[in-house]
Amino acid sequence: MNQLSDRINNLSTSATLAMAAKTRELKAEGKDIIGLSLGEPDFNIPDFVKQAAIKAINDNYNSYSPVDGYVELKDAIITKFKRDNGLDYSRSQIVVSTGAKQSLFNIASVMLNDGDEVILPCPYWVSYADIVKLNGGVPVEVKTDISNDFKMTADQLEAAITPKTKMLWYSSPCNPSGSVYSKKELRAIADVLQKYPNIYVASDEIYEHINFIGGHHSMAQFEDMYDRTITVNGVSKAFAMTGWRIGYIGAPDWIAKACNKMQGQVTSGANCIAQRAVIAALEANPSEIQYMIDEFKERRQLILGLLDGIEGFKTNEPEGAFYVFPNVSAYFGKTIKGKTINNATDMSMFLLEEALVATVTGEAFGNPDCIRISYAASKEEITEALKRIKEALS
Ligand code: PMP
Ligand code: GLU
Repeated sequence: MNQLSDRINNLSTSATLAMAAKTRELKAEGKDIIGLSLGEPDFNIPDFVKQAAIKAINDNYNSYSPVDGYVELKDAIITKFKRDNGLDYSRSQIVVSTGAKQSLFNIASVMLNDGDEVILPCPYWVSYADIVKLNGGVPVEVKTDISNDFKMTADQLEAAITPKTKMLWYSSPCNPSGSVYSKKELRAIADVLQKYPNIYVASDEIYEHINFIGGHHSMAQFEDMYDRTITVNGVSKAFAMTGWRIGYIGAPDWIAKACNKMQGQVTSGANCIAQRAVIAALEANPSEIQYMIDEFKERRQLILGLLDGIEGFKTNEPEGAFYVFPNVSAYFGKTIKGKTINNATDMSMFLLEEALVATVTGEAFGNPDCIRISYAASKEEITEALKRIKEALS
């Protein structure tokens, strides 16, 4: 008999992490899988960050840190927000957590009452909907597609607002579409929100540096949005520090205070060594990581060129992050190698089994017509993977 709570029974498994686990399992069985499922930079972390961690160990950083993070790290985050985003935050507005994922969970848990609606422009990052649901909220999906570059318009936002709307959550650059909202587009969204002063925004900016068109814009830069925006960020993507598990927010005081209280009952402060290393990462000039961004840019060109040669895959040109999100619906209803492909999940499974390439179904991101392919992999892997995909489908 299933004795588990309704809460866990109703929770979906993270599709990105499930695909990563499946890839590991198949590789361990000796299968030659190319993993393009996980959004994980494949670079080593910069040496000066490693040195800061080693120094922290030698300096005996062993104890619990303050729940919301070391003061020195908060100061580095304040400097970063000012330097990179033109945002002014004070120490009491910063909460360091065990990854941006936890920051988002904190936000949902301190902001949502049962039945509160959270608007999620689709496609959205895989965990948004479940984090919202886990905290009693109701995700409200706003559909977008390639024709509008997978971006929600101000009109679409307005149409989705109800008296129950509490928040808007979005990422820019977007995981999984790579779309980047321009200042003008964000302003149009902010203009709608001016009419609804009780709606708050979680602006997930974890890919801010992985932007190929330049010009990252934060919602909190608009003076009239500053008091209702929570800016979410972390070091997993820009500094390739996925396993170090450090994220952070800049938020209105009362929200930061609530997140601190929540975290104090759940995890306490984030890992002390990782926090010391992140001080070095954030104090550095962003030019230190430009080599990763240049490499992602080349890989984007490579994968877009290769996708062009695959019949039936329709792709937008991502402006940031390290994913492509092709629409594969031209294959729906077709049977290839005895396998019928009826949706994006079937396509993703087909590619895993027949091309030995791991991707993620768009269904997990609220778009059942697309699959997500991560190009956080070497050029050789990308080239070989796309060759296999082409062969399997032809
Ligand atoms: N937001 C987005 C859009 C992401 O892609 C990720 C990647 N995991 C996260 C949040 C969570 O990042 P972290 O590793 O800091 O928990
Ligand atoms: N954000 C990454 C992704 O979308 C990492 C996986 C995860 O945290 O779910 O693949």
